[in-house]
Amino acid sequence: MLVVLVLLVTVVMRVAIVTAVVYLLLPRGPLCPHCGIEMVPLRNRFLDRLLPALQRRWCLECGWDGVVRRVRATGARGSGLGTRNRLRAPSP
Ligand SMILES: [Zn+2]
Repeated sequence: MLVVLVLLVTVVMRVAIVTAVVYLLLPRGPLCPHCGIEMVPLRNRFLDRLLPALQRRWCLECGWDGVVRRVRATGARGSGLGTRNRLRAPSP
């Protein structure tokens, strides 16, 4: 019985380590990993409900799309219209 428990714990630890490494390997934030331009968020029911820390994004410049780590909006809200608002904001 103890052997089964030890094996189960090691399997759970392996899954946790792999999950953490995969999470850390994902690009962070709304900027494209290739060209550095802010990407457009894509709605994905699965990710939004089950994994709210992740977000699917698409780069309009180079066409890269993938899952990124969601970052907290510090000042401006990243609700998908951020690109347009940020482009218009600096003009007086
Ligand atoms: Zn790009």
